[in-house]
Amino acid sequence: MANIVWHTKLRILIDLNKDDLDHPEFPDLWETIYRIDRYHGRLRTPVHERELQCGGVCREQGVEAWMHLRVRNGRREAVHERSEDEARHVVPMSDEHKAYQERILRAAEEGGFHGDSEVRTRAGRSWIQTDTLVEGSDGRRIGWEVQLSTIGSDGLCGVRARAAKAEKNGITPAWHTDRSDYAQRHDTHWTRSDNLPAYVIARSGDLRVVSGFRKLDFWHCDVHAVHPCPNGVRRCGKAHATPVPKDVLFDVLVRRTAAGTIVPIQFRTPTKLHRFWVTDTDQDRYHDLLSDDTQLPEPAIDAPAPASASRNRPTCRPGLIATTSPLLTPPAAPSPATLHSPLPAQPRSPATEAISGTATSSSAETDLVPRPGPAIQTGLPDTLIVLQQAADTEHVKLQQLADNEERRQQRSVWFEAAHAAQSAITQYARTKRLNRYEVEKEIRRLVRHPENTPAE
Ligand SMILES: [Zn+2]
Ligand SMILES: [Zn+2]
Repeated sequence: MANIVWHTKLRILIDLNKDDLDHPEFPDLWETIYRIDRYHGRLRTPVHERELQCGGVCREQGVEAWMHLRVRNGRREAVHERSEDEARHVVPMSDEHKAYQERILRAAEEGGFHGDSEVRTRAGRSWIQTDTLVEGSDGRRIGWEVQLSTIGSDGLCGVRARAAKAEKNGITPAWHTDRSDYAQRHDTHWTRSDNLPAYVIARSGDLRVVSGFRKLDFWHCDVHAVHPCPNGVRRCGKAHATPVPKDVLFDVLVRRTAAGTIVPIQFRTPTKLHRFWVTDTDQDRYHDLLSDDTQLPEPAIDAPAPASASRNRPTCRPGLIATTSPLLTPPAAPSPATLHSPLPAQPRSPATEAISGTATSSSAETDLVPRPGPAIQTGLPDTLIVLQQAADTEHVKLQQLADNEERRQQRSVWFEAAHAAQSAITQYARTKRLNRYEVEKEIRRLVRHPENTPAE
């Protein structure tokens, strides 16, 4: 409930504390607006399509909080549509919350970024209120929203809508909490720290983010894999990504999100859309994987050198180039040692072993040894080949770029081209009732290794 209402059509503030609503010039004002609101109520017009907004704290904070009217025990009342707006009225900002705001600003400034608290950003005809807004590099804006256990225990609603509105207006939402139930939500990219008193948050010592930042493990789905195949019980021979929890210091998170080296990602599993933060290189590799999951994404060439880099392939191994870019060099024989590494870069032999005996699912590409199987290599339409060639050409261009920004742009060009090829393959396989994976593999072989076409 709130006592001040903003009428969006009349453009006046209405004070429910006063009998005349503070508008003596409109003697029937209450009767009129109440009748109209009841009428909308009977029509089931959504509250946010009516004419009344909170004119109190919500409006002062630049938030459009829609309201409806009611009469309770003979008293006129305006009720927020969403309980989170209601919460704005009853909870003063806690010391912990203030400590977080200060900490974010300090961390940002130490990283050379400017920030401000309680920032209003114009968004069309309304405003976006941001707890703490950090101005990052390249026009990046990170909108920190801190939701602590000190606020009421009522459910927090409208997070997705608020996050989406921020995103739409060029602000990357970054929601931080100390509540584990919030951290498990998927409506935005939540991060969580332990529940700490204000004086600890305010200090400059380590403040850890215990969830919401993850590292992506890229692995090949073969007998050596430690993770289960996300698509089923069998080993499918494809490459997958698995998010693994990873600690990060809060200050580092603030600075790296501003710099764009930690980015939000949407990670889809068969049942759910997850949202969390990863490094930009993990994000790039994940996009590579989405456009081509028959091979592990290239290791990041521009990665810094933290301990996790050692999980990438050894750089001194012969055959590395052949595995990462089959287009540029002739295929090399796999070195036996690589077949038993935890992340085998040459998955072909184990993968073939793993699925031998299955008729429908296929192994990884068998461009070294033509694989016996259903012969579908004849009569594939040229358009599929042309589209695949186009995608491969864009991929080669990507591999030849060193500049980060150029790579980013080229990656999206490649992504588009690969997507076009993939969609055409899906469409064709569906119409012809063929195994999609077989078609895709055959197209790739025709494009990349036409010399291996077996004699009919
Ligand atoms: Zn309000
Ligand atoms: Zn798999």
